Amino acid sequence: MAKIDIFDTTLRDGEQSAGINLNTQEKLEIARQLEKFGVSIIEAGFPASSPGDFNAVQQIANTVKNSVVTGLARSIKSDIETSWEALRGGVQPHLHTFIATSPIHMQYKLNKTPEQVIEIAVESVKLARKYFPLVQWSAEDATRSDKDFLVRIINEVIKAGATTINIPDTVGYATPIEYGALFRYLSENVTGIEKVKLSAHCHDDLGLAVSNTLAAIENGATQVEGTINGIGERAGNAALEEVAVALHIRSDYYQAESGIVLKETKRTSQLVSKLTGVVIQPNKAVVGKNAFAHESGIHQDGMLKNPETYEIITPELIGDVATELVLGKHSGRHAFFSRAVQMGFQLSDEKLNAAFTAFKKLADRKKEISDEDLFVLLTDQQVSSGEVEVYELEELVINYENNVPTASITVKMPTGESTTAKGNGSGAVEAIFNTLEKLVNGEVRILDYRVSSVSKGRDALGEAVINLSYNGATSSGRNASQDVLKASARAYINAVNRQLMNAHFKERVAVIQ
Ligand SMILES: [Zn+2]
Repeated sequence: MAKIDIFDTTLRDGEQSAGINLNTQEKLEIARQLEKFGVSIIEAGFPASSPGDFNAVQQIANTVKNSVVTGLARSIKSDIETSWEALRGGVQPHLHTFIATSPIHMQYKLNKTPEQVIEIAVESVKLARKYFPLVQWSAEDATRSDKDFLVRIINEVIKAGATTINIPDTVGYATPIEYGALFRYLSENVTGIEKVKLSAHCHDDLGLAVSNTLAAIENGATQVEGTINGIGERAGNAALEEVAVALHIRSDYYQAESGIVLKETKRTSQLVSKLTGVVIQPNKAVVGKNAFAHESGIHQDGMLKNPETYEIITPELIGDVATELVLGKHSGRHAFFSRAVQMGFQLSDEKLNAAFTAFKKLADRKKEISDEDLFVLLTDQQVSSGEVEVYELEELVINYENNVPTASITVKMPTGESTTAKGNGSGAVEAIFNTLEKLVNGEVRILDYRVSSVSKGRDALGEAVINLSYNGATSSGRNASQDVLKASARAYINAVNRQLMNAHFKERVAVIQ
């Protein structure tokens, strides 16, 4: 069996996609889960892009012990040096640097000749190796590059000290046979390729990201990159859980193993979905909520006689197991704590106690507390930073005055005093948003908003996720409550608070790679 290293870029390529902004606590929580999931490398961010990214990468590098932590840097001295400061605390400091190699990118974006591009790549790898034991170099837009130019530049960066060579299909243009052939060509023509890791990085613009990734593995890739749930720029990246499960189920064919702890798949997927606010389509392979549901009568009949008639993956394989024990009003502290541990949470005593208080409050109003409810409740405690909220909802009253939905909202202001405002709209939610806009002292545009049920039943928690622009900068927020109007108001305030607490998001440098 060949060993394929899994390189996760959920926190870099995934996080930079539209509408996602994770705070440091949330990134740390995802990184811890990725470590449990068994990924070889975690790309934690782009340290030079903003102080917030720097801080998150540094904390992740200092915390994670069983996965290598890396950060992205352009071929710029200050990017590489800033990255070193962020990553030096890691167990094996690793840097990911890149430059574009396609004619269109070199000419229009970089305005450089191919010779100049080789020179810059070599210089940046040499500089990176002064600090980092592990340096990955990527040929941005590799699949639209001249393949003999790729051979030339890769020869040079390997000589300069690169330890991994990544061949990204940056724009999601390649087909599996072409992409596989490129890996074969590089394996056969690059000097010293056997001494370095060869990596695939695919985007899903044509729906081929996972297929291309697997084609690369068949043709010599020893590392593959992607994100959880396939999130990312545009149509997203290769979904790592799909790659890992394909390698496992078809190990007879691929003869490769990823080291991924498959029973952590469901939890990893749910955590990323919850914290990023990116919902998983129900029919998504491996982790979609219908991935194991059999509707047709013929299938159901076959499944009852022998599950293997129609089931190639079991829910147990990916850790999708419902627990029999349901917690409720009479469940004590001990039952609650042990379930939290069983569900994979490691919370401080202080956070466990706060979660237990929230649980008791919910149990007073909801008969059965499901694992989904607990997941929301415990995750919220886990990622709460303990920072003081900038704005805080104190009271929300909705009336239908002469049939017009009217909201009266009291908010604790940044100054500490309470302020009340009133406003209306054509619906209750609009009335709330209109009123809150008066209170938060800025111009707000709603870009996306949705409410979904966390578990089943009429007393289920409703989770509101909102994406808005506040004084010109986009931000997202979320909140779960039995009262969806309150959840919506709190999600709105959460988004505004995040933007105020992370003002540097505005100056963040964007890269596509
Ligand atoms: Zn990418």
